[in-house]
Amino acid sequence: TTFEELSLSPELLKGLYVEMKFEKPSKIQAKSLPMILNPPHRDLIAQAHNGSGKTTCFNLGMLSRVDPNLQAPQALCICPTRELAIQNIEVLRKMGKYTGISSECAVPMDRRDPIPVMKRAPIMAQVVIGTPGTMKNLITYKKLGVTKLKILVFDEADQMLAEDGFRDDSLRIIKEIEKFNSSCQVLLFSATFNETVKNFATRVVGKKEHNEL
Ligand code: AMP
Repeated sequence: TTFEELSLSPELLKGLYVEMKFEKPSKIQAKSLPMILNPPHRDLIAQAHNGSGKTTCFNLGMLSRVDPNLQAPQALCICPTRELAIQNIEVLRKMGKYTGISSECAVPMDRRDPIPVMKRAPIMAQVVIGTPGTMKNLITYKKLGVTKLKILVFDEADQMLAEDGFRDDSLRIIKEIEKFNSSCQVLLFSATFNETVKNFATRVVGKKEHNEL
């Protein structure tokens, strides 16, 4: 498989070749990208270790589903730590450099100078990457609208579910999205699959037809 075969925009291909310096898709990318990128845009539950190239799978998923002419959150990625969220958004910005797609990180603010969620400006960015608590608060206080969402990603779900409270926050986010939006694609990546992760995966994907990898 080549990246050209994946019906990616010229801007995204340029990002992959020029910025990322990737030549061809990794194994997991070759397997998952057709399912992620092509209609019917089914949900995906994937077991993927660090280093497998999973970040590219969901970044391309998010960047290619966003309508560049609609300035509203259309893709969310939920990560277990602030550091991972920041790292992921840096990669997304690099990969999406030529797309003009906007992105914002939703992580806890600087501890020395905390801004309460209620005082934050509403998020208009097209892709939002963050941690479950902050994301939940932003959605609850209507600072992050979910009506235009097309794709929701869980990165390192096993790490996230190991964290107290993050499971509840994530379920809360899912519930809010389901209230306003019935057609959001969900991608869930996890290095390991214990009962907790399996139950969570089943819950977020629901009864919908989905792919497993
Ligand atoms: P990840 O598992 O997504 O964290 O990716 C692990 C590493 O592999 C990162 O340094 C990526 O930049 C790199 N990588 C991901 N996809 C490719 C690819 N198709 N070709 C070459 N390197 C890649």
